[in-house]
Amino acid sequence: MPFLHFSLLSPIVQAVKESGYTHPTPIQEKVIPLVLEKNDILARAQTGSGKSASFVLPILHLWSLSRSEGKGKIKALILTPTRELTLQVAQAFESMGKHLPIKPKVLSIIGGESIGDQLYAIQQGCDILVATSGRFLDVLKKKQMNLSHLEFFVLDEADKMLDLGFAEELELILDAIPQKRQNLLFSATYPPKMESIASKITPNPIHVTL
Ligand code: AMP
Repeated sequence: MPFLHFSLLSPIVQAVKESGYTHPTPIQEKVIPLVLEKNDILARAQTGSGKSASFVLPILHLWSLSRSEGKGKIKALILTPTRELTLQVAQAFESMGKHLPIKPKVLSIIGGESIGDQLYAIQQGCDILVATSGRFLDVLKKKQMNLSHLEFFVLDEADKMLDLGFAEELELILDAIPQKRQNLLFSATYPPKMESIASKITPNPIHVTL
């Protein structure tokens, strides 16, 4: 099954082709249509499975369709456990969105850089925010970030986040962001300790396993 099958916008399909992807990976085959249909999902996916594109592509598509309702407002928040993954996911949004007639402003927010500069960048306009949870919480505490347009919340490598001890900061973030949103949770494993955080994110997700 080729990527065309998903009815993604053609500038996105074009970027996919240029990345050298000919066929979706199994996780992409299952997740992309579910995201396009606006479902909440909980997917078991390993690094290397192509999980990033499984949320990057449909979020770019849905963002493009609704962008007139607030360009420059944070519509998607993606939290990851590490700086490297944050930069990698932000890069995937940039590269898959490069042919869109109106491109999203993608920002990555990681530790080790000035919070003041990051807040300034967000206030200049940001459509898709990719962040490590710790630094995102620090920025959130400054109370200068408008999240009222948030539509997508992605938790990537959720089990790794819990392993690294980020459960508490995740809870604080979940208490502070708007409730009405589409939730996508990716995790290689699903340990019992994930139960409470997963149900706090979304009580009724579609479970995707391979
Ligand atoms: P991820 O699991 O998202 O970290 O992706 C792992 C690697 O697979 C990355 O280098 C992606 O660029 C690549 N990749 C993702 N989707 C595909 C695909 N459909 N075909 C070929 N490579 C892919």
